[in-house]
Amino acid sequence: MAAEYILAENNFQVMLCERGIRTFETATRSTLDISSILQAKETDSIVMVGDLEIGGKEIVFMAGPCAVENEEQLLVIARHVKASGAQILRGGAFKPRSSPYSFQGLELEGLKMLDTARQETGLKIVTEVLNPQEVEMVAAYTDILQVGARNMQNFSLLREVGRSGKPVMLKRGLAATLEEWLMAAEYILAENNFQVMLCERGIRTFETSTRSTLDISSIPQAKELSHLPVIADPCHSSGSWRLAAPLSRAAIAAGADGLLIEVHHKPAEALCDGPQSLTPENFDRLLETVAPVAAAVNRSVPGADARIKE
Ligand code: PEP
Ligand code: MN
Repeated sequence: MAAEYILAENNFQVMLCERGIRTFETATRSTLDISSILQAKETDSIVMVGDLEIGGKEIVFMAGPCAVENEEQLLVIARHVKASGAQILRGGAFKPRSSPYSFQGLELEGLKMLDTARQETGLKIVTEVLNPQEVEMVAAYTDILQVGARNMQNFSLLREVGRSGKPVMLKRGLAATLEEWLMAAEYILAENNFQVMLCERGIRTFETSTRSTLDISSIPQAKELSHLPVIADPCHSSGSWRLAAPLSRAAIAAGADGLLIEVHHKPAEALCDGPQSLTPENFDRLLETVAPVAAAVNRSVPGADARIKE
């Protein structure tokens, strides 16, 4: 609306400047007191998921629907994202929904569908576990356990995923400071599970034009303060598929080791998060447009050589 004041005087020669906004975030190196194993390793960690490196030179793509809806939906999407170059299939079988009346996920049936998709495509699987009692069951079907934003400080869940010994992706809480996020990761590491990656998925600020605000600064900060790989989630942070590609480029430029992207072959019919889900074609385009940015920061994306246009 401020820009509109200038335009209203018939001056259309206006550009906007994003200069960062005031949030609750206060963590800096000087305020952090992590006398912990987070700092015990001097070099960046690489999380190994089978033969796949997370935190190495190649950017890792985790792509798939918000929720597993049925076997056909999952397989169609899995085949597409595999063909695009994704290494990991995402999809929730247990969904943390704000409303108890929204679709809660297919639970064990959904886990079995993820397993079928893994066998058919060879993709690795990442899926969310909601509570400590279900860690063993979910761990039996997945390659990476996802701890969602709403559970970032569910300390008994953190300890249990730590004890599972499985790779864990810890999403940043909706209103968590960097320090709280790293301390939550510490709970998992404290169980001697070092296969941990962080996921910046946007935080709540006063801005309402996006679902959350992707905190780009947290990516280099988390990587500087810890040795853990950092994944960025431009879909949950923005709430809009249109913002996924530009935010992905920004995240890679800032040092992200991977991207979590929601993909659905029929976004308008998705049971969950349709507006932020990319069609397979848009996902393909996203990979194309991030490849030159990855190359500029000495990283690569799967199938990059074919993608970077001369
Ligand atoms: C998700 O990735 O499916 C999810 C629920 O995300 P978040 O926990 O970041 O809201
Ligand atoms: Mn979602």
